[in-house]
Amino acid sequence: MDDLKKFGALVRAAERGVAFTGAGISTESGIPDFRGPQGVWNTETPVYYQDFMASREARVRAWQRGVRMYHRCGAAKPNDGHLIITELQRRGHITTVITQNIDGLHHDAGNVNVIELHGTNRTAACQHCWKEWPTSEIIARVEKGDDAPECDACGGPIKARTISFGQAMPEHEMRRATEVTQEADLFIAIGSSLVVEPAASIPVLAKRSGASLVIVNAQPTPLDDLADIVIREPIGETMRKLLGQLPG
Ligand code: NAD
Repeated sequence: MDDLKKFGALVRAAERGVAFTGAGISTESGIPDFRGPQGVWNTETPVYYQDFMASREARVRAWQRGVRMYHRCGAAKPNDGHLIITELQRRGHITTVITQNIDGLHHDAGNVNVIELHGTNRTAACQHCWKEWPTSEIIARVEKGDDAPECDACGGPIKARTISFGQAMPEHEMRRATEVTQEADLFIAIGSSLVVEPAASIPVLAKRSGASLVIVNAQPTPLDDLADIVIREPIGETMRKLLGQLPG
């Protein structure tokens, strides 16, 4: 049996599947990933949370990048990768989506039970008093020249509600992700280089807990040897072919 047929058989049998996604699922929507061939980290370096908090210059840099990313995400529409997950959820094969993405496209595609491990760039919050705003309001301030916006209530620095390098993972989301992973019968890692924690350990937990592991990613990942199936093809095309393997 070829890999796609095997993938189809695993999905047909799955009742508690989990889709675990990374930046690669959104490249076909026009949002660049970090470590792919066109990845952002080929030309830029990340702003660490500690630097964001300590230095105005770092906050200016973070918001310059934030404005670019926000407009890219705002212009993006879900692609077949996101939309076919909705269909697999409708058919009862996938219960939950765990995503490292901050672009909100899983929600736009109608995915349900979406756990955003790295937060979202659709809201922003004061890092002192946690007052929140739609990010669009903060972007408007930045574009008018307020290049490192501060909270009008307490003066604290405002940051998108995304998890930066060096920042603690959100407890509630991590707990939910761990629970659904331990209960999964199928775990599909889609579009992630699987090199950053916890991305690197959640698929390992799935496999140890008894799930079949499928990796769909154009480039090799450190977990390929652990997987039952590795598909190194474009995500949209793979998901369309997968849907073709399922009864109509
Ligand atoms: P990554 O950039 O490290 O890896 C993406 C992987 O996807 C690469 O290995 C690449 O080869 C593969 N890929 C890209 N397009 C593909 C396609 N069309 N078909 C098949 N494979 C494809 O991404 P990561 O593992 O998610 O880690 C990056 C971190 O950056 C995450 O934490 C994420 O939050 C953040 N990020 C998010 C977005 C977003 O929200 N869209 C964009 C960039 C980065």
